[in-house]
Amino acid sequence: MSASTDRSEDLFRRARAVTPGGVNSPVRAFNAVGGDPRFIRSARGAWLTDVDGNEYVDLICSWGPMLLGHAHPEVQATVAEAVSRGTSYGAPTEPEVELAEEIVARTPVDSVRFVSSGTEATMSAIRLARGFTGRDLVVKFAGCYHGHVDALLASAGSGLATLAVPGTPGVPESATALTIVLPYHDREAVTAAFVEHGDRIACLVTEAAPGNMGVVAPEPGFNEFLARTCAEHGALFVSDEVMTGFRASRQGQWGLDGAVEGWRPDLMTFGKVMGGGFPAAAFGGRADVMARLAPEGPVYQAGTLSGNPIATTAGLTTLRLADDGVYEHLTKAGETIKAAATDALAAAGVPHVVQATGTMFSVFFTDSPVRDFADASRQDTAAFAAFFRAMLDRGVYLPPSAYEAWFLSAAHDDRAVQTVLDALPAAARAAA
Ligand code: PLP
Repeated sequence: MSASTDRSEDLFRRARAVTPGGVNSPVRAFNAVGGDPRFIRSARGAWLTDVDGNEYVDLICSWGPMLLGHAHPEVQATVAEAVSRGTSYGAPTEPEVELAEEIVARTPVDSVRFVSSGTEATMSAIRLARGFTGRDLVVKFAGCYHGHVDALLASAGSGLATLAVPGTPGVPESATALTIVLPYHDREAVTAAFVEHGDRIACLVTEAAPGNMGVVAPEPGFNEFLARTCAEHGALFVSDEVMTGFRASRQGQWGLDGAVEGWRPDLMTFGKVMGGGFPAAAFGGRADVMARLAPEGPVYQAGTLSGNPIATTAGLTTLRLADDGVYEHLTKAGETIKAAATDALAAAGVPHVVQATGTMFSVFFTDSPVRDFADASRQDTAAFAAFFRAMLDRGVYLPPSAYEAWFLSAAHDDRAVQTVLDALPAAARAAA
């Protein structure tokens, strides 16, 4: 690969002059790992090409959506055909119906409403839960990210079941005063919160399997416990599958627990993979709850580009192509990379833990299993930063944060996987 990054550096300089931090989502910046982000000109299959002509194996995959890899010929063809017929009408279309049918067929929701981002999906699900129950409190877990919804950008207060404090300037205390933040996996804290506030709790929202503190598989029975606790108190269980949906398995995280154990969430949120690389997301759930939405019910929710025909076409084509073989491939490639990362980091004496749920995995730079955000926060982020930079130098573009999943696609073939394997030993030594 060419050593030059001149064009990226020049673009980053220009970007910083006109865009805060030079990026349109903070996770794209390299603040946590050092250096400047690479500007991408094109991508195909498992590979990114930057504006200087450097190639990288992509382990970000647009933070999850690109399940089939970049520029998949069939997705491109159906999108091009859809674009040729116009790009947005503000009236219903066939691909919306077909994508909704596909999601309803794969998951336990009775119906879905499309929106344009995961943030909108969780924001709308919470409004619907509040409208349905007539209650105001929301319970969430520390380290679970549900988009930049004011009420959910909250950190834990001082006590276990105390109300939350804003996690960022710009969110007023009144916006998080109705949010309770608990430690993930803490059944006692959940029970205590419901004992104290149960008749005011509209919903508990959780990542179906946390992926935003690194991947933390829910312990067996934990999601079922949450669903049961909500039901006992007349609250709704909202399972956020924006990241895990159609990625952790064909049926998302629910395919790994609820489908096996015989329970279902009251509401679910989806995004990323279901948009096939375009802005599309959804929330859905029980028919009686969804019936409360406008225009039939009183809970208002809307969107100019919701269910956009290009985005729903890309999502529909992606889901139709995402058969069992795709998930088997992700599992196999993931196993190979997980094993090699473990070997390389162990050989270099770098404390690490590899965790997974279904086909999703991440590598924590810490020496003991991660069950919650406090565990994840004990990572050696300096070691990760050195590891990240060494991987990048060897042509592997990891998420620039120690708190993220490493995403693969169906296009991560032997050559792409081998590039990752070849880079790992030196990167592990750099982290030591
Ligand atoms: N929920 C989860 C679990 C996510 O991982 C994300 C984004 O990473 C969101 C919600 C927000 O989605 P978006 O970035 O499309 O607003």
